[in-house]
Amino acid sequence: MRFSLAIHGGAGTRPREAMTGEAEAGFRAGLSRALLSGCRVLEKGGPALEAVTQAVIALEDDPHFNAGRGSVYTSSSTHEMDAAVMDGASRKAGAVAGICGPRNPVLAARAVMEKSENVLLIGQGAMAFCRGQGLAFEESAYFDTPERFAALQAELERRRLKREDTRDDAARHGTVGAVACDAAGNLAAATSTGGMTGKLPGRVGDCPVFGAGTWADESCAISATGHGEVFIRYAAAHEIAARMRLGKQSLAKAAEAVVAELGIQGGSGGLVAIDAAGEVALPFNCAGMYRGRIGADGIAWTGIYREPLAARELSAA
Ligand code: ASP
Repeated sequence: MRFSLAIHGGAGTRPREAMTGEAEAGFRAGLSRALLSGCRVLEKGGPALEAVTQAVIALEDDPHFNAGRGSVYTSSSTHEMDAAVMDGASRKAGAVAGICGPRNPVLAARAVMEKSENVLLIGQGAMAFCRGQGLAFEESAYFDTPERFAALQAELERRRLKREDTRDDAARHGTVGAVACDAAGNLAAATSTGGMTGKLPGRVGDCPVFGAGTWADESCAISATGHGEVFIRYAAAHEIAARMRLGKQSLAKAAEAVVAELGIQGGSGGLVAIDAAGEVALPFNCAGMYRGRIGADGIAWTGIYREPLAARELSAA
């Protein structure tokens, strides 16, 4: 049986100098748990859609990552989460934006896809729909972490002092996502995020915008992380699918070129991408991206920075 799963835990990695051994072990353990959750579905012959959902649930539950528990704060010290799922074969899709309550926003997106006539629900309406579907809810304190709160204070202080020089977009980012190719060759993508630290309340990023931060069709599935506004303006995920379909480019060539071009336009970040042969590409244009992949051999590979892991990553990919 052949199958493949790739995940990311966001392009907003800690600077290498600030990464302790303990923290790195925590990030890698979280990534491995998510890979194994998704792999358990695929090795039983389960669908890619369920595999990406399970992988993202594991990442949302882990406060190391900016999605679900551990989401970043808006400029009003609240959480507003976005999530999306898409199934490649059926082109069914569901997403939520600006919610705080459902324990796993990816399940809210899945419910929109499977239990409503719609593709994207936002805010209070989305929450009422999720309650009606019986999804598990949490108080907003469940999503809080002192690290994310400190990051908000630093961002607000930076703005107050108008310190452009110290602006570090990567430090404000994070998102989680997964793409999978199941044993039947079907593809799916899921993405979930708290968005960007200090974002304006009401701001929606690329994650729930299909074709920008999340996409799946018959030829590829994409989940992105990075400066969402730029990913939306360049229709990043769909651009990769279009280059494959119309330009006959390989997944790796299309994904790497699009991520490099986004970087030139101020869109720091990266993405995970998979094609119908189970080939995976994990490009990013910033210092690092928490990421991982697993195939039918069941060996979970994880990476954080570009060096010195590039050689290992190439041989694994
Ligand atoms: N893309 C997300 C957003 O713009 C944030 C991120 O991935 O870092 O909301």
